[in-house]
Amino acid sequence: MDKIIELQNVKKKYKEITALDDISFDICQGKILGLFGPSGSGKTSLLKIIGGLSKATKGEVKIFGEDISYKNKEFIAFKSSTFDFEEDFTGNDLIELYGDFYKNFDKDYNERLNEYLDIDTSKFIKNLSKGQRQKLNIALTLSLDAKIYLLDEIIDGLDQVASGKIIDLLIDKIDGKKTMIIASHKIDKIEDLIDDVIFLNRGKIFIKAKAEDLRNKENLSLADFYDRIYLN
Ligand code: ADP
Ligand code: MG
Repeated sequence: MDKIIELQNVKKKYKEITALDDISFDICQGKILGLFGPSGSGKTSLLKIIGGLSKATKGEVKIFGEDISYKNKEFIAFKSSTFDFEEDFTGNDLIELYGDFYKNFDKDYNERLNEYLDIDTSKFIKNLSKGQRQKLNIALTLSLDAKIYLLDEIIDGLDQVASGKIIDLLIDKIDGKKTMIIASHKIDKIEDLIDDVIFLNRGKIFIKAKAEDLRNKENLSLADFYDRIYLN
């Protein structure tokens, strides 16, 4: 199978803090990787490096067999855990910006998503709640027709109905070709989507496995397994 994302001995340091240490793994095309671990374990740092938003201090990262470059912009969609847009923009301003900036932004699909997720795009960002910002952010990301989706804290901070709708959208997107890395603390909600899992602990890979193998071996859901390893 084609390896879409390859990491070898990746290290990330922020001054004296080691956020990631000796991370190596591959993801094949069409696979959905669940990236789990407590706050501060390195999930965001890892996603940012793969997305080309941050540089590894050491090690190698290849996307489609090549070093990360501006070209990735066309096939990577990155959903940040934070929402760092201009507060004086409206949702519609942002949508326009995305449309101008990304050639692969599907405006019609975005319109449908906004309706489905009940997003009022005429509102100023500064007047949106955390959950509303999160939904707008997700709708923008999922409207990019990408090959790789990096989704940080995908449904965290959302109510039950919104989370359920986002999961349905992800299920619709999964077509055996699109590759995704999904980080979330709501493991129970997303575990059925996941093919492979990586559990991080203090910047290192603690466990790397196929979700199904882990479930069969441990006779536990991923969420229960997570509780077992991190609560101890
Ligand atoms: P997670 O997403 O799993 O919560 P992060 O990747 O955000 O983890 O953080 C991993 C570690 O790196 C933490 O110790 C965090 O404090 C540190 N860190 C993250 N970003 C920065 C930064 N920009 N400057 C300094 N330290 C950082
Ligand atoms: Mg994070």
